[in-house]
Amino acid sequence: MDCIFCGIVQRAIPATVVAEDERIMAFPDIHPKAPVHIVVIPKQHIESIAHLEENHSDVIAAIIYAAKRIAAEKKLEGYKLVFNVGRLGGQSVDHLHLHLLGGWAKPGDGKKGFNVG
Ligand code: AMP
Ligand code: ZN
Repeated sequence: MDCIFCGIVQRAIPATVVAEDERIMAFPDIHPKAPVHIVVIPKQHIESIAHLEENHSDVIAAIIYAAKRIAAEKKLEGYKLVFNVGRLGGQSVDHLHLHLLGGWAKPGDGKKGFNVG
């Protein structure tokens, strides 16, 4: 199957893995949209949120808890969790993934977009 994220799971495509267990994997986005931008994926190939089935609740929970743990490790005070769904929703890789975005400067701290990653 020609899927970039399955390639990362199989270690055929390189990525810096920041979290992994039997269900999920997380790595930095190659084109970051925030000072910290991590992608969390299920190891299982599920195309998108629109393709979820009843038996996928555990894997979705695992993805969200992994994002929460990574955000805590990176000491992000606030962050965004985003699922893009379908082309009209901005999804470009057809393997379900959660974007963890954060690390912006606090207003008034005199820094611009410091990188806490
Ligand atoms: P989306 O647009 O929601 O489908 O997000 C897919 C994301 O995957 C984009 O933000 C890409 O920059 C990112 N991406 C694509 N290829 C890679 C890769 N090889 N390693 C890390 N991130 C990638
Ligand atoms: Zn895949």
